[in-house]
Amino acid sequence: MRGIKGLPKRFLCCFCKKTVTGPGNNAMPAKDGRCCNKCNLSIVIPTRLEQARKVIYTKCPCCRRRFKDVMNNRKFCGECADYLRTIIAKSNYYKNKFKKLKQELE
Ligand SMILES: [Zn+2]
Ligand SMILES: [Zn+2]
Repeated sequence: MRGIKGLPKRFLCCFCKKTVTGPGNNAMPAKDGRCCNKCNLSIVIPTRLEQARKVIYTKCPCCRRRFKDVMNNRKFCGECADYLRTIIAKSNYYKNKFKKLKQELE
């Protein structure tokens, strides 16, 4: 039996295996499934907070400063990325030498 938006009306919590009535909660990123409110509060939310904490600050390998990196897809801080981009753009030598680095900056 499926409710609105294709979500099940009843399902088993992917953590405690209890029957949940209603749409429940998305258990990502703790687990690929759905869970009850209790497990959402005790497992899923702490996992999300933990992950958020991890992605917020990254150490720039260039200037060694910590910078905010919410998407967790940046290797260098904004300043160093801009600086390195200018060097790479200016020189063909660096363009070839830092091909990999250039890909990381993009
Ligand atoms: Zn549960
Ligand atoms: Zn930097």
